[in-house]
Amino acid sequence: MKKQTKAIHTGFRRGDAYGAIAMPVYHTCAYEFPDTDKMADSFCGRSDDPDYSRVTNPTVIHFEDRIKALTGAADVVAVNSGMAAISNALITLTSAGQNIVTSRHLFGNTFALITNTLHRFGIEARCIDLTDIKAVEAAIDGNTSCVFLEIVTNPQLEVADIPAIASIAHSKGVAVVADTTAIPFTEFEAKELGVDIEVISSTKYISGGATSVGGLIIDYGTVEGFRQRMRFDTLMNLGAYMNPQTAYMQTLGLENLDARYRLQSANALELAQRLKGLKGIVEVNYIGLPEHPYHQAAVRQFGPTGGAMMTIDLASEQACYDFLNRLQVVKRATNLFDNKTLAIHPWSTIFGPFTPEKRRSMDIKDTTIRISVGLEDMDDIIADIDQALGN
Ligand SMILES: *Cc1c(COP(=O)(O)O)cnc(C)c1O
Repeated sequence: MKKQTKAIHTGFRRGDAYGAIAMPVYHTCAYEFPDTDKMADSFCGRSDDPDYSRVTNPTVIHFEDRIKALTGAADVVAVNSGMAAISNALITLTSAGQNIVTSRHLFGNTFALITNTLHRFGIEARCIDLTDIKAVEAAIDGNTSCVFLEIVTNPQLEVADIPAIASIAHSKGVAVVADTTAIPFTEFEAKELGVDIEVISSTKYISGGATSVGGLIIDYGTVEGFRQRMRFDTLMNLGAYMNPQTAYMQTLGLENLDARYRLQSANALELAQRLKGLKGIVEVNYIGLPEHPYHQAAVRQFGPTGGAMMTIDLASEQACYDFLNRLQVVKRATNLFDNKTLAIHPWSTIFGPFTPEKRRSMDIKDTTIRISVGLEDMDDIIADIDQALGN
């Protein structure tokens, strides 16, 4: 079956007693066993009978199974946020005394996780320019646990050469972990690019129009011992497993992901082209525009669609606040890939807790607005943006 069919028709592991065609929401904490042997098998990982919903639940398993069918992964673990996916994956891979090779161009909380939280447990962050392959090679040593990258950085929209990074990392026995939130996994094959572990904020494209916060850890089976440690150490002991209501909503989101993504990407391209001509906009930054510096790298790796995230630069920081405060249709909100078009000033919000020097070192600019393009008619969005610019 093709991906879009698998997204809808991947079956339940066990038939439903009533023949339900949508996976029911199993709002239960525990499961009764017919006898002690079956109970012991479940607790010791010798069967896939669910035992306790901190580590396994039929509704969540079904969501994980659909992701597995779509990606061809060896294992998929659904957790309760994108940050839980990133932190659980990195904790599974990394021990005290090791280092993570990554970039300064990271989602704000991911940067703080690696440079603050994990740092407190004796893990070193090596922030380098991941578009410089020589720098990647120089940064990896015998204590490197993984290279961590975002496939399209947010909000700089930088795209690194993943196969080149992966070939260096793998030659030194180091895993590649990629945050692929920016482009859905239905559009490209992360494993073929050399990604070992994919982490995703399913809050974004997959949730189905911002219904719920969630995360995914997609394990391609290429890192020895990862699956065992992930399921039987990290997942059990940190307790970040997805809840069944979220899995239900995100399974529905997965069913129409392809349709939403196609329209949102087409809308984003149309908007980017039309914004270039508007008075008051200094720069439009979108990887779907052929003149974008990373357009070719993005097309080569992730296919022709550029996703729904773009940034615009205005003349000054104050112009950004004036613009945002005048918006009437576009929502002043964080999040990405909602059905609604959203706008935010990353400098004063997502990256606001960092010092100005740190923000500048991460290439966050006080003149940048990030836009997540929704499913509306772009005529209305253009009209709103135009009036908010004071035109
Ligand atoms: C939103 C986001 C995250 C964090 O995900 P949550 O679901 O909010 O925890 C991580 N990485 C990227 C690229 C994101 O856009």
